[in-house]
Amino acid sequence: MAINKRRTLFESHIYRFLFLVSFFTLGVQGQYNGQAKVVPGEYIIKYKMDLSRSNAIGKIQGKVTLKTAFPEMNMLHMAVKPGQESAVQDIKNDPDVLFIEPNYILEKLDNDNDSQSSVGQVVEQLSLDQVYAQSSSAFTQNYSNVRVDQAWQLSSSYVSDNRPIVAILDTGLEKDHVVFKNSGALWVNLKEIPGNGIDDDQNGYIDDINGWNFISNAASFADDEGHGTHVGGIIIGATLDIFSQNLDQAKIQIMPLKFLDAQGSGSTANAIKAIYYAVNNGAKVINNSWGGPGYSSALLEALTYAYNHQILIVSAAGNSSKNNDSNEIYPANYGVPSNISIAATSDSDKLASFSNYGIQKVHLASPGIYIYSTLPGNMFGSMSGTSMAAPFVSGIAALALREAPALSGYQLKTLLVSSGYSVGNLTSKIQSGSRIDAYSLISQVKSNPGITSNQPEYKPSYSEERNVASEAAPDASPKSGGGCGTVASSLLAKGGGAPFDANGALAVLLLLMIPLAVYTYLKAKTKTPTYVRQHDRFIMNSDITVKMGDRELVAQMKTISMGGLSFNIDEMLEKGGSVSMKIKGPDNQEIEVEGRVVWSEANHAYGVKFEEEKGMFAEAFMGWKNKLVKTD
Ligand code: CA
Repeated sequence: MAINKRRTLFESHIYRFLFLVSFFTLGVQGQYNGQAKVVPGEYIIKYKMDLSRSNAIGKIQGKVTLKTAFPEMNMLHMAVKPGQESAVQDIKNDPDVLFIEPNYILEKLDNDNDSQSSVGQVVEQLSLDQVYAQSSSAFTQNYSNVRVDQAWQLSSSYVSDNRPIVAILDTGLEKDHVVFKNSGALWVNLKEIPGNGIDDDQNGYIDDINGWNFISNAASFADDEGHGTHVGGIIIGATLDIFSQNLDQAKIQIMPLKFLDAQGSGSTANAIKAIYYAVNNGAKVINNSWGGPGYSSALLEALTYAYNHQILIVSAAGNSSKNNDSNEIYPANYGVPSNISIAATSDSDKLASFSNYGIQKVHLASPGIYIYSTLPGNMFGSMSGTSMAAPFVSGIAALALREAPALSGYQLKTLLVSSGYSVGNLTSKIQSGSRIDAYSLISQVKSNPGITSNQPEYKPSYSEERNVASEAAPDASPKSGGGCGTVASSLLAKGGGAPFDANGALAVLLLLMIPLAVYTYLKAKTKTPTYVRQHDRFIMNSDITVKMGDRELVAQMKTISMGGLSFNIDEMLEKGGSVSMKIKGPDNQEIEVEGRVVWSEANHAYGVKFEEEKGMFAEAFMGWKNKLVKTD
């Protein structure tokens, strides 16, 4: 009944002017056609040991610019300075380097399944008024018997401080859409004061109130494509009726992390930054409604980092009608144990003709045909794709986490699979042979409220995964990636891209594109930088010149206190190194101070702890204080 009613309703309001890709097929095309797209001169490097113990600094100082540090992952994102390309070979040869890879561009590919023209398009679009004009029972997001309504009734009532966060790595989100606004669905960073221009919580991002845009490096994650907004609506729609005029308060939170641009293109480094942000800012679930054939060790490392923080990773299986057991598609195929790969099914629980599948690599199915959800412009619309299937799983997983917050992502994945509804035609297609059942999931979780957290240890095996990804051995059965022991070899140090020999052009390209020098990079191991806590800190935004040995570097000062200062700098500095700098106060008085470099884990920024807290500086600083704005 409901289906007919809905179809009639929508058929009278068909707007075909908005086209969205429902599954961002992203990947390193070059692994297939020899023209890997990379961000020129940029690399991601992983060291074998804690960065502060590595003795590499100095060897490449001045040759590279640090773009981002991921201290907990021992990874750096950097750019080689023009003319310094020859230094790459040194990095390759550095025994401290586990791997180095270019900053691949993840790029939207055309959907390669022509038979499903509805995939990738908004086929129907409705305004708020059109939706509200109908009775709320007229339609729902999908008509498979996933039992969300019953799950909602069983789910514990709203509690403000028990709202698990789902990070959405996508094209952004229209945050003012009534569904998100009126339900209070957006994650709020309570430690950040809106619009004050200060990184209050020292997480490295200024005024990150609801999420972040890693493309423009700004707080606004406005959705210039539409895909992310649709995905966000499905996540929330799995937890409440998004078509109701009187929206319930959202029991979960969504954290939009934009790393795909309006063309559906993004860089690996930005995807990693988004994952790192999600983990470090409290997300429990990461939704990946995108993917492609390009394998990246660095991305695998980031997802492993998420796993080690017990996060559930939900990845769309892809829309190519392919068997993922022999088809490379990432992130869905990464063997991280809490990564769950999701196929799409119809209202009658049949595998969607476009959906990828795989007994080994695809775990669970979820509705993904004609899914109604939010669109930019306060609209609603229907789309199909595994991109639509994955967010249902993310939504009900977050709902389940409310009942047992201790659950690890791995345990949650196991429960999602075991609570699924077994469907005959899926048993030969996907690992569980089941599609999601929200009611059964919440029931199972509620029956084990005191469940304690656990998960197996996992160490990724980069080289093996890379071999699988390379197509060098097309008949090789992809391995799950787990339990392969420590990784002993650097990808490029061992055989210089040998996995790519089957695609010789890329091998050559890689060798050309890896012009990085070995360098050392040290950071303070202290979690709390001493220089910021002993004294009141004041905001001071001005350029300063930092002298370190015979180097003279320009930095942007952020804060200052009697004990030291913090600044942004586009260079790597040696922890503990002596620096001197001239600081110009609000009274224009210039004071020269000396200190030692420290690294702040909290804000991923360098700082200087002054050697001497008295003397001329102290005297001048006392006079400056009442002219400066204090920060926390
Ligand atoms: Ca912040």
